[in-house]
Amino acid sequence: MTEPIRKEKYITVIGANFLDFVVWDLVKESFLTYCNTNASKKRFQTPISEHSRAAAAIVLSVLGIEAYRNRVYCLEKREVRSSVSNSLCDMITEKSNNFPASKLKDLLEEVFVVRDVIVHNHIYEVTVAYQGSNMIGHRQRRLQGRTDEKYEKHVNKTTKKTNLLKLNVQPTKISFEDIFKVLLVVDLTIKIMQQVFGGGYIPFHVSHKIGDHDAKNLSEILTYYFDHIPRESFVTFLEKLSKQLRNDFMSFLPPYPISDCFINNICPECSKLGFYKLDNTHYCSKCGLSMGFIRDGVFGIDFAGKDVGD
Ligand SMILES: [Zn+2]
Repeated sequence: MTEPIRKEKYITVIGANFLDFVVWDLVKESFLTYCNTNASKKRFQTPISEHSRAAAAIVLSVLGIEAYRNRVYCLEKREVRSSVSNSLCDMITEKSNNFPASKLKDLLEEVFVVRDVIVHNHIYEVTVAYQGSNMIGHRQRRLQGRTDEKYEKHVNKTTKKTNLLKLNVQPTKISFEDIFKVLLVVDLTIKIMQQVFGGGYIPFHVSHKIGDHDAKNLSEILTYYFDHIPRESFVTFLEKLSKQLRNDFMSFLPPYPISDCFINNICPECSKLGFYKLDNTHYCSKCGLSMGFIRDGVFGIDFAGKDVGD
């Protein structure tokens, strides 16, 4: 007997898949160059193998945010009439009282500024000063590249970085640090959207082998890299940024401590980032607190470092 015909509808967005499958190799290769580069040496650009991959990963990651915005608007049967940051924040505000929309909008606009300078190929003239074979300074001047209202609002023209996230807007200065910060904002935005609209609206899954571990979400991948960042100044920046973002968005994130949002992954004692590790160990390199495994949403706590989950 012939099987009856069954029809199902799917709402598809290719942009979100870049985050699942494509960006991680780019991030990994960019990170390898970042680790092997002497940070104290002056450079007029980030190594090509680092900035090209980081820039490509930024574009693809930001497409993910736009893809989810489009999906939400499609499912809500609404027509998009404004920018991604505006429309997304408007929609979240409609669904969630007291949401700090202007704060998320600023973060998203900074991320979209960087995407624009890459996509529109901003061109710079670089004047480099040498003493012998040593570079002692350089000046950068933008020759070509359209700017808009958000660029003018969020970019410091002297440092050529954005104001909050300190993202490089000179494309060849883009580094692993920039893609990390963009992914941190992607992680935060997806978690807020899942909390406000529900997981069915924002189906985000990661399946990525990193080191010896299988990462199941973006927060785990960010935690892995965070634990291996060789530059103390960047670690300090991320701790400060994450604290500020927790203050701004904590009540719009999944409940602590079962949250899988990177900025929420903190030591319960001293708030240092990166407490829950990919290998299921939970410890703080700052204050020494360790915990057992999560079981039914509850931790077994043991300050001596033994697993008391049983
Ligand atoms: Zn601690």
